[in-house]
Amino acid sequence: LVSRKKQKEDTIVELGGVSIGGGRPVMVAGPCSVESYEQVRQVAAALKEAGITVMRGGAFKPRTSPYDFQGLGIEGLKILKEAASEFGLKTISEIVDPAHVGLASEYIDVIQIGARNMQNFELLKAAGEVRTPILLKRGLAATIDEFLHAAEYIVAGGNTQVMLIERGIRTYERATRNTLDISAVPILKQESHLPVLVDVTHSTGRKDILAPCAKAAIAAGADGIMVEVHPDPATALSDAAQQLNIEEFHRFYAEVTRTGWGV
Ligand code: PEP
Ligand code: MN
Repeated sequence: LVSRKKQKEDTIVELGGVSIGGGRPVMVAGPCSVESYEQVRQVAAALKEAGITVMRGGAFKPRTSPYDFQGLGIEGLKILKEAASEFGLKTISEIVDPAHVGLASEYIDVIQIGARNMQNFELLKAAGEVRTPILLKRGLAATIDEFLHAAEYIVAGGNTQVMLIERGIRTYERATRNTLDISAVPILKQESHLPVLVDVTHSTGRKDILAPCAKAAIAAGADGIMVEVHPDPATALSDAAQQLNIEEFHRFYAEVTRTGWGV
């Protein structure tokens, strides 16, 4: 069902005024984790100022260590919703538990399924049962074929509003946190009609190359970019090293869109 052979036209995911896929690329930005109302509000205000309409923020954080900040849970989703509605933004947040998929639509516009859960088949099936758009991240070591099959689970369940996001894969290279597989973008666009985004923050894990990687993604045909922004990255409870501060974010956005998204 996700194959181009099945459907020639691009799937366009509609978020009430914001469309993703088949047109102008979209920028999704926001903090790694929702930490407080004030923190999210500062980011939301900056996004609004830049004309950005979709904000991300993690409330359920799948952390490598059990001793690291695990997120504010439902309370975090409430904070995200409140700050977003003040500025008229759409929201994306990760859900990790199939039991939360149904209630997520009360708080957020898009459910993210994280890299670590790309093959959590019960979560994929739950995502297929709702009508909330899903942003599916590529697994840390998933092939493109496995990625598309994971998306197939959701669409086969009846939810056609699925977006794919390349977020880097694990290779031997240590200069970046993961290796951004830029070739995945044109391959996914050829093989599937679903929108394809690129997460430059988690794929590279370093701030200094975000703009060229985002430009490369757009040049390769991506429908959008995800980037992490925090009012004070040094104090961030997760991904402190690679989140942009607000000033850096404005510079990044100006650079990436300098030539009109390079398209
Ligand atoms: C995230 O986007 O917050 C995240 C945890 O990313 P990933 O699942 O790609 O590691
Ligand atoms: Mn992060």
